[in-house]
Amino acid sequence: MTAALVNNYGPPPVTFVKGQGAELFDESGKRYLDFLCGLAVTSLGHADPDVTKTLTTQADTLIHTSNLFGNEPTSDVVTIIDSLIRGMPIGGEAGDASSEPGRVLFQNSGAEAIEAAIKLVRRYHGHGKHKIISAYGSFHGRTMAALAATGQPEKHEPFQPLPEGFAHVAFNDVDALEAALDPSVGAVLLESVQGEGGVNPASDDYLRAVRELCDERGILLVFDEIQTGFGRTGKWFGFQHAGVTPDIVTMAKAMGNGFPVGALWATATVAAAFQPGDHGSTFAGQPLALAVVRTVLNKLMAMNAPEVAQTKGAALSEMLQGVDGVSEVRGKGLLLAAELTADALGERTAKDVAKTCLEMGLVVNGVTQTALRLAPPFIVTTEQCQEAVDMLKKALG
Ligand SMILES: *Cc1c(COP(=O)(O)O)cnc(C)c1O
Repeated sequence: MTAALVNNYGPPPVTFVKGQGAELFDESGKRYLDFLCGLAVTSLGHADPDVTKTLTTQADTLIHTSNLFGNEPTSDVVTIIDSLIRGMPIGGEAGDASSEPGRVLFQNSGAEAIEAAIKLVRRYHGHGKHKIISAYGSFHGRTMAALAATGQPEKHEPFQPLPEGFAHVAFNDVDALEAALDPSVGAVLLESVQGEGGVNPASDDYLRAVRELCDERGILLVFDEIQTGFGRTGKWFGFQHAGVTPDIVTMAKAMGNGFPVGALWATATVAAAFQPGDHGSTFAGQPLALAVVRTVLNKLMAMNAPEVAQTKGAALSEMLQGVDGVSEVRGKGLLLAAELTADALGERTAKDVAKTCLEMGLVVNGVTQTALRLAPPFIVTTEQCQEAVDMLKKALG
């Protein structure tokens, strides 16, 4: 018997061997439009020449040294992330920014960024004010504490007991949150748009009210921007739609355009709670990862990624609204969900429809039983959007 993968993803429906821009190709040479981007990761598209060049040049220069030593790309990347989060021009004056200067801690993935945020909250408040409130329908990762923060009880059940100190409230419900804020609460953790939960945006009013409640009670506000960050929703970070400022931000997916990397940003005041020895990671922040991140972020800035996502997202959303069998299109920028009608679904779930789309040459996923998620790369063309929508029409017909 040959060795096999652990069956935690189910059998793969297709094996891709090549990508180019918004397109993927399988072993038989069949072409697909990638409207999923490896789950909102490859915003610049596949085989971006500058990303490839950075990867190969840096690999030929220096890949890894450990966190005992400094790295050349680090300070550029930290400056860019801090400027984007605080809404100030790169190299701008502190007076241009909407929040306190921050500090950045690199990680290798989204779940690790969440773990770091949880530890930072606990270190900042000390014992007794450690509880983290997050929302039902949220997704924060698969490691044990990130899973405990994830507001999907059915995902918890098989793995109990989970770490203590987590509670969940209804999303977009200020009263429910206020009722849960006892003195042991140290932080509120929210996605600006719940991605895995079905592409459900937080309302601006909700986020403003949450910020006020947190300020009144000395509670930290943590935004999980792992899926929504770096322009995807039409702003650099999703919380910026509401004009609120964060205490901690977690990020990952798009920042490496497929290279595994994550990070946490925290205000300098909060970040100061971590002392040498409190947290670490062998690989995190290595020269190869950060050289790639620098190139990715510079390219996203050069193309004005938020504006591109806004414009192309609005056009795609309008096309989708014209499809028979789509009852609602929700989301922000280029992170969209198309809700399918019961008529169009028939006996099928959205996953079945996604499978039909895949057979036709369109990569999307069923994000709920009844909705498809679309997250194409920022370099997608109007023609490719039209082609994708035509395939969806056929799949629903
Ligand atoms: C994907 C995701 C995570 C987990 O990131 P991994 O890199 O898979 O660990 C956490 N939070 C949100 C909002 C995500 O979309």
